[in-house]
Amino acid sequence: MGILALRIAGKKNGVSKLHGEVSRELFAEVWPNIAQRESPIDYVTNGIHTCSWLGPKMKELYNKYLIAYWQDNIHKNEVWEKVRDIPNDEIWKAHQERKIKLLQIVKENTSTRLKRAGYGYEQIGSIVDQLDPNILTIGFARRFATYKRATLIFKDLERITEILNKHDRPVQIIIAGKAHPADVEGQELIKQIHEISMKPQFKGKIFLLENYNIAMSRYLIAGVDIWLNTPRRPMEASGTSGQKASVNGVLNFSILDGWWAEGYNGKNGWKIGTEKEYDNYNIQDKDDSEDIYMTLENKIIPTYYRKNKKGFSDDWVTLMKESIITTGGNYSTARMLVDYTQKLYMPLINLYNNHYSDLEKVSEYNNWKQELYRNWSDIKITQVGNKDNITLDAGNSVEVCCKVILPNISPDSVEVQVYCGRMLDNGVIQDFEIVKMERIKENKQEYEYVGRIKFTTGGDFVYTFRVMPKTEMILDSANLNLVKWMEKDKKSELVDKLLEE
Ligand SMILES: *Cc1c(COP(=O)(O)O)cnc(C)c1O
Repeated sequence: MGILALRIAGKKNGVSKLHGEVSRELFAEVWPNIAQRESPIDYVTNGIHTCSWLGPKMKELYNKYLIAYWQDNIHKNEVWEKVRDIPNDEIWKAHQERKIKLLQIVKENTSTRLKRAGYGYEQIGSIVDQLDPNILTIGFARRFATYKRATLIFKDLERITEILNKHDRPVQIIIAGKAHPADVEGQELIKQIHEISMKPQFKGKIFLLENYNIAMSRYLIAGVDIWLNTPRRPMEASGTSGQKASVNGVLNFSILDGWWAEGYNGKNGWKIGTEKEYDNYNIQDKDDSEDIYMTLENKIIPTYYRKNKKGFSDDWVTLMKESIITTGGNYSTARMLVDYTQKLYMPLINLYNNHYSDLEKVSEYNNWKQELYRNWSDIKITQVGNKDNITLDAGNSVEVCCKVILPNISPDSVEVQVYCGRMLDNGVIQDFEIVKMERIKENKQEYEYVGRIKFTTGGDFVYTFRVMPKTEMILDSANLNLVKWMEKDKKSELVDKLLEE
């Protein structure tokens, strides 16, 4: 169904910048004659419906300090700048109220669950009475799909034991989630976390909540201090729970995947790992978990416990404000709808209004397309003149020419292009450029084209020519799947290479 949709949809998009890249690669075979980087899949990053996810106390603060009608201007970044004017203790107070409310819910939920499991009143008390709103609290709640790696933070049990149990700087973790009824592996993760949470050193430190749902999610995303997200990069399409946390002043601590790969700016939360690509899951888990421990120990915990006389960390609140300011507008549904409207809906509406309300035009287009399909394979491209193996200084340009035979095809129906890239020593091609060529001569069905390639950097460059269909009737003309590359001894090898990169 996905491939059917990609073939017939007017526009296609991923739901974050990285997901756009991954999708272009994943679905490259839908457009076999162009490089995967050219797959006509754009992106619009997901966003949250801000006011549905904002805790009431935080909303009151925004009403007080942001501009009037800020709720009608959520997508504008300047609206959020005003968050800087909120006094630190007011933000902290609003946050602590949500945290206290959450801890109450954790206490009730855990007590009910342990009671049902046969634990005694005193045993339960010794666990839930340890919940403390002055302790740094990490939250993790989402579907227990295996790629989300809910147990990653427990990879090294000794290390996490030490982190959670520092007597002057303790940490508590709250976890919630459901696995799909058919996802046995996901269910196994829940069991593992339950078992870990019942180990003596984790009692009263790790809380696993039952019956995760949207209502519970509301308290979690606003009431913890840190929102942990550990998907296996690059499998998270966008993720939105971190956006919900962020707008409530909860700091993200996440893998650079999905929305966080573009949302993280170095000072609005923390990243886990790098943008490195792994083919070994074990090594990836080890590197990522190691980074979790290091960042907790060296950055997150010290910042949280650098408390002032009023009992909170001003450095922490600075991060909270930066997080709200940089993500409030960008990761809202309001911004998302503006993007969808500008990038996809308006161009398609204009296309319809300009071309498709006239049925005769549609029928003409259809005939044009049939003709093109009939004749396309007879197109021939040959290079004119030889500009191979020449040396130029950076900043200069070179003119390249080709001759194109267009059998029963009007030159107005095609665009002829130079396709150029820089070849590295290891054979990888980079810095691609596509240059539209100009028609300079014609003789019956033979045409000569010229294009100018400008070299801004040094290096070895390679180029070839291709013919693409040209029509106003669709936005992604790649969907016609008509691309003619020049075929000529060593050049065809180059095309294979270009398509691979
Ligand atoms: C927002 C939300 C999600 C999505 O969470 P991710 O961390 O983005 O996967 C899942 N479940 C509920 C109940 C939510 O509110």
